[in-house]
Amino acid sequence: MIDIRLHDTMAREKRLFEPADPGRVTMYVCGPTVYNRAHIGNARPAVVFDVLARLLRHVYGRDSLVYARNVTDVDDKIIEAARAEGVDPSAITDRFERFYLDDMGALGVAPPTIAPHATEHVAEMVAMIGRLIEGGNAYEADGHVLFHVPSDPAYGALGRRDREAMIAGARVEVASYKKDPADFVLWKPSSEGVIGWDSPWGRGRPGWHIECSAMIERHLGRTIDIHGGGLDLIFPHHENEIAQSRCAHGGAPLARYWVHNGFLSMAGGEKMSKSLGNVVSVADLLAEGHKGETLRFALLSAHYRQPLEWSFSLIAQSKATLDRLYRTAGDAAPGTVDAGVVEALADDLNTPLALARLSAIEDAPVLRASGALLGLLGETQVSWFQGEGDARIDGLVAERTEAKKRRDFAEADRIRAVLADEGVLLEDGPAGTTWRRA
Ligand code: AMP
Ligand code: ZN
Repeated sequence: MIDIRLHDTMAREKRLFEPADPGRVTMYVCGPTVYNRAHIGNARPAVVFDVLARLLRHVYGRDSLVYARNVTDVDDKIIEAARAEGVDPSAITDRFERFYLDDMGALGVAPPTIAPHATEHVAEMVAMIGRLIEGGNAYEADGHVLFHVPSDPAYGALGRRDREAMIAGARVEVASYKKDPADFVLWKPSSEGVIGWDSPWGRGRPGWHIECSAMIERHLGRTIDIHGGGLDLIFPHHENEIAQSRCAHGGAPLARYWVHNGFLSMAGGEKMSKSLGNVVSVADLLAEGHKGETLRFALLSAHYRQPLEWSFSLIAQSKATLDRLYRTAGDAAPGTVDAGVVEALADDLNTPLALARLSAIEDAPVLRASGALLGLLGETQVSWFQGEGDARIDGLVAERTEAKKRRDFAEADRIRAVLADEGVLLEDGPAGTTWRRA
């Protein structure tokens, strides 16, 4: 068995990964709130945890991983978007969930094993909130139910923030109801005409954090192996998930390993985020003609815990490297996976090293199989190069004509061979060279 090491945010160090049951490895990653188009920063966790899922399947067996990624389909931003368009919230969430799956699919992200929706698990959330109230960890106040943070002495272990920082981060939206400023919402009332469900505390809707605790319990169990998400989710989201689940489960921990990805930033290090207005959507990048696989390669070029600066030269370098890999891979069927690539991934998902090792592979079948482990080299060679702009091919043909003029026939033949590999055939005639796709 290959040893996998993962950096665990809770332990603050790399730890040997030992699943509770190697026959059923469980992983949960917080998924999208579906009311807008994903930007390339949002795609980073999806791609990173897709690679981790591929690695876990490679090591423990195809059917040994249960990977859940939720869909947050009830949220104030969704309600706002629905109101602005004069449609039902489900019209917004259906549309943007489809877009999300299309965009992530283009990046080679395989669908998770389970994609639970918040709106389909309200009963489980209500039951868990009821247990928290019974256990003295939550209280009702004016139609709201709040988690009482001081009731949980272990609160704050993941982020290790001091109390002042936690209070500042607890979004003081219903301060007047709170027994303690750090308390957070489990349930809130819905006014007439706003999406809501009946509950023992009146008609309302769940807070964000409780959905993950309830859906993890329902689909994966009390204690899961890996819980993941972006760095920004550590506090308050994951801290609150931990408190809810632990208190509802008699002290059983929510997850055995906590894995968090760093941010994607724009030049100068500014985090890509909607509120800063510097976002580049995945859909726009695809529409500009970049291949999903090129974007995926770029996302994997930095270690997942490090910041990643997004730029056009990064995209161009990624494309050039993939072109070279596709030339080596040819149309070979996948063989065995390169041990060096597996070893790099098993060391806390060291994708930069894995990509460097991939680039050094000369054996086409091994290259194909190793690429697949990273979700790369999924196309045939012809289809990879077919999407190319004709301008590049025209340029290569012109270079070849120049080479022939200076009687550099070796270079001319090299260019002909490169194009032939891509399925582009050249015909030399009296009026010059023309080309066509095979
Ligand atoms: P948001 O739309 O901001 O709620 O983010 C949705 C998901 O994308 C969360 O898991 C965030 O951690 C992640 N995310 C948002 N912005 C970035 C970014 N610039 N880089 C990496 N991950 C991000
Ligand atoms: Zn979550």
